Amino acid sequence: MADADDLREEARKLAARVRTNLSARARSGALGVPRAPRAARATKPTSIPSPSLPSSPPSLPTTADDIDAPAPPLYQLPTIREEIGDCQRCGLSNGRKNIVFGVGNPNAHLVFVGEAPGADEDEQGEPFVGKAGQLLTKMIEAMGYRREDVYICNVIKCRPPGNRNPEPDEVAKCEPFLKKQLGAIRPQMIVTLGKFAAQCLLRDDTPISRLRGSFRTYEGISLMPTFHPAYLLRDPSKKKEAWSDLKAVNAALKRLGFDPPHPPAA
Ligand code: URA
Repeated sequence: MADADDLREEARKLAARVRTNLSARARSGALGVPRAPRAARATKPTSIPSPSLPSSPPSLPTTADDIDAPAPPLYQLPTIREEIGDCQRCGLSNGRKNIVFGVGNPNAHLVFVGEAPGADEDEQGEPFVGKAGQLLTKMIEAMGYRREDVYICNVIKCRPPGNRNPEPDEVAKCEPFLKKQLGAIRPQMIVTLGKFAAQCLLRDDTPISRLRGSFRTYEGISLMPTFHPAYLLRDPSKKKEAWSDLKAVNAALKRLGFDPPHPPAA
């Protein structure tokens, strides 16, 4: 009788571990399971359709060891870059010099997402290398990271002419690749830079002045909206708020066991 009870208890524990693992995979998007709608999604602008990860057969756990193993990402960054190819999916391809895919650590626990490349980024094929990029690098370093420790990318991979705002059809074509990049990296934390990236990822048209500073969630990943470094260059008085957002990010990562690799001397 004791054996039957033991077996029942063992089966109950195994089922609980499977449930925990499957819900973690669903949260990360690895199973392609649509997440439950949240109140914030109700404010989704209708002009930007929400892309969903194309489904490919998920590998379900079959043994206890599989259950404990982290779910493999559906995409790897080089595969995503290959899929983008010499992209002609929207009109931005006409004026661009380079596709600006993203740069940094493919296993980063911290990812920064901006809007779209500017002239310097288009020229060099790397995100955030102009004046705003230099400020972003300083912000990253003040947090105790180097650029190569984190991953940096944009919602839009090609420079909009004259740095105009991206059009909804351009977002619709490009954002699925960002979603795949984030699914491949699976960071602990996303920091969105500026109004466009925050509103786009969160499907929330609340002004950035109100979005910033509060943690949100994107596909099961914590997300902190903060000001764009280009805005901070125009209005340096806002740097204090941005720094407080980044300190909150560091504190949240610390609670998860992630300390910055190069903490600045106190
Ligand atoms: N602004 C952005 O949003 N991204 C860049 O890569 C450069 C400037």
